[in-house]
Amino acid sequence: MNQFEYVRLSDVTGAAKAISKVANSQFLAGGTNLIDLIKMGITTPARLVDIKPLPLAMISRTAGGITIGAIASNSQVAEHADIKSMFPLLAMAINAGASPQLRNMATTGGNLMQRTRCPYFFDITMPCNKRAPGTGCGALEGINRMHAILGASDKCIAVNPSDMNVALAALDATIEVTGAKGKRVIRIADFHRLPGDHPELDNTLAKGELITSVTIPASPFNKNYHYLKVRDRTSYAFALVSAAVGLQMDGNTIRAARIAMGGVAHKPWRATAAEKFLQGKTATDENFEKAGQLAIEGAHGYEHNKFKLKLAPNAVRQALLTAAAKK
Ligand SMILES: Cc1cc2nc3c(=O)[nH]c(=O)nc-3n(C[C@H](O)[C@H](O)[C@H](O)COP(=O)(O)OP(=O)(O)OC[C@H]3O[C@@H](n4cnc5c(N)ncnc54)[C@H](O)[C@@H]3O)c2cc1C
Repeated sequence: MNQFEYVRLSDVTGAAKAISKVANSQFLAGGTNLIDLIKMGITTPARLVDIKPLPLAMISRTAGGITIGAIASNSQVAEHADIKSMFPLLAMAINAGASPQLRNMATTGGNLMQRTRCPYFFDITMPCNKRAPGTGCGALEGINRMHAILGASDKCIAVNPSDMNVALAALDATIEVTGAKGKRVIRIADFHRLPGDHPELDNTLAKGELITSVTIPASPFNKNYHYLKVRDRTSYAFALVSAAVGLQMDGNTIRAARIAMGGVAHKPWRATAAEKFLQGKTATDENFEKAGQLAIEGAHGYEHNKFKLKLAPNAVRQALLTAAAKK
């Protein structure tokens, strides 16, 4: 059994210091992902710094939008009146994930940081460059049904499993972090990484940096929006493909569009070419079908996930149709 030290802290500076003191320390928030990974021997921290008591559970309106503390639970966010009125796309995406019990425990920071659900990452007897760099990728020639069709590399074809992250990508969120070098802000588009040669790195957070909050700028995507999650069961299952979309409509004309996909890449996949295509167009099935095709430009399927090459554009198209139809 891996022995580890447990520290519980209630101030941000103390938590940042505690993490830097012992190599291989990890923050513990809701524990819904990390504890499983520890139990399965996938990660073996020397110290856990419990950040649940940090005063970072606030959800507050700012001049430019809303700031969500890193410790705010997924339920708190999804049920918050301001989130529901300003960013219902985010509430819808969060509620599509996990179960009520898990959403009560899971935090905003933890959800951003959750690890892949690739079965080869979870099975310590299998090769996995993400879990054990240099051992190979079991999924490349294995059962790769859940895996990426965009932005993958020959080292890793795992996907980011989060629903929340897809909505945050569509809504252009920023992530505030603090660490040894002070505070900084990371755009969500720059937060999660593509695997490249270093799939062990999920994101651009520096070692020991703590996510303190997430800010979402005000946007007009609170009326015509939709989060479509396609999965094997209708609840308690990760996305095979998901689409978060927002439209700014003027009658039947699209003034602006936001489209992000989940379950297709190592990071939430923002479909900017499709967004540009829709700008100024009428909301027709034909245009949405074209947007769906543009959203997967450059996609590549593997033996068991080629169905995603059809499913992903169809999910985008269907989500756009549903969003446009909202009155
Ligand atoms: C059975 C099951 C089903 C699920 N289904 C879904 C689903 O359908 N959709 C979905 O999106 N998710 C799903 N999840 C995942 C769930 O959303 C995540 O486990 C949860 O969001 C993680 O949050 P947490 O606070 O529990 O993180 P923890 O488990 O505490 O931590 C996860 C990681 O984040 C790091 N971390 C946590 N907070 C911070 C911070 N503030 N700064 C820096 N690092 C931090 C930790 O060090 C750790 O590496 C499911 C989970 C389970 C167990």
